[in-house]
Amino acid sequence: MELLPVDAHITAIDHNLLGLPGIGVTYVVRGESIALIETGTALTVPHTLAGLEKLGIQPEAVDHIICTHVHMDHAGGAGYLAAALPRASVHIHSMSAPHLVDPAKLMVSVRRAVGEEAWPLHGDVKPIPEERMRPAEEMRLDLGRDVILEAIATPGHSPDHLSYRDLKSGGLFIGDAAGLAMDRWELALPVTPVPAYDLAAHRSTIAMLRSLNLPRIYVTHHGPHDDVAFQLSRASEQLDALVDLIDRAIADGESDIASLAARWMPYPDDGPAGLVARSWSQMSIAGMLRYETKRRQG
Ligand SMILES: [Zn+2]
Repeated sequence: MELLPVDAHITAIDHNLLGLPGIGVTYVVRGESIALIETGTALTVPHTLAGLEKLGIQPEAVDHIICTHVHMDHAGGAGYLAAALPRASVHIHSMSAPHLVDPAKLMVSVRRAVGEEAWPLHGDVKPIPEERMRPAEEMRLDLGRDVILEAIATPGHSPDHLSYRDLKSGGLFIGDAAGLAMDRWELALPVTPVPAYDLAAHRSTIAMLRSLNLPRIYVTHHGPHDDVAFQLSRASEQLDALVDLIDRAIADGESDIASLAARWMPYPDDGPAGLVARSWSQMSIAGMLRYETKRRQG
C-alpha cells in the first residue's frame, strides 16, 4: 500500500490491485465528511483499510463509498469495505445496485470478461444490505468545506459508468471512461470489455469530456493526470486503431483473441505487469469484436 498525495483534500490509496503497485487506487475525498471513490476488489480492501488507518481516519468517519461502475476493480470490494466502514452508504448507478445486493450473476459475467488467467486476482463479492445502497446517477454530494461531488453520465466502457466532478478542484474522477493511464508500467489503453461495451456511447462520452476542458482527471488506473487533452486524444486514437484492427479481423475471418491483442497492444514485459497488460488488452479485443460483430448483424 502506498499513499499518494493528490490535492489538499484528496489522497489516493494505491491498494495493490492485481497484486501490483501502480495499477489501481481508491481516492479519499475529505470535506467535513469523508468519501471514498472506487473500491478495488475484495483482495485490495485490507490495503485500503491500512491506508485509511495511516491517514488517521477512523472507520466510523467514512460516510460514503462511491463507485464509477460495477466492474470488479471499481465496485468488487464495496461489500467488504461497507462491512468495515459501518456508517458508509454505497453509491452506484441504480441499474447496477442490484448486482451488489445479490452478486451471483455478476460473478459469472466477470469471470467470462477477465478470462481464467486473471480471474483469481479479482476476489469475491460480499453482498451489501439493500438499505445501504444509494442511486448515484443524480448524485450531488456536499461533503462540507466547499467539497461537492457531482455525477456525470459517462457511458460506453459500461452502460452504468458515471464520473464524479469535484467542484473544488474542477477535476473529474473519471473511472475507466478515458481508459488506462498507468505511467509506472508504461501502459495506456482504452478498455472495451464484454458484454456491454458500446463504442458509439464511448465516442460521445470522450467528445463530451473534451468539451469540459477539465484541468485534471483522477484516473482509477492510475492516479491524477493534468494532461487531459492528451489523455483523451490518445484514448480516442487507440480506439480508432482497435476498430481498424477488428474490422480487418472480421473481414479476414480471424478471431484469435490473444494474437489480435498482441498485435494491437504489444507489451514486452513477461512479468506480472505483462499479465495485466495481456488480460486488459484481450478483454478489449473480445469486447470490440463482439460489439462490431453484433453491429454488422444489425
Ligand atoms: Zn471497468
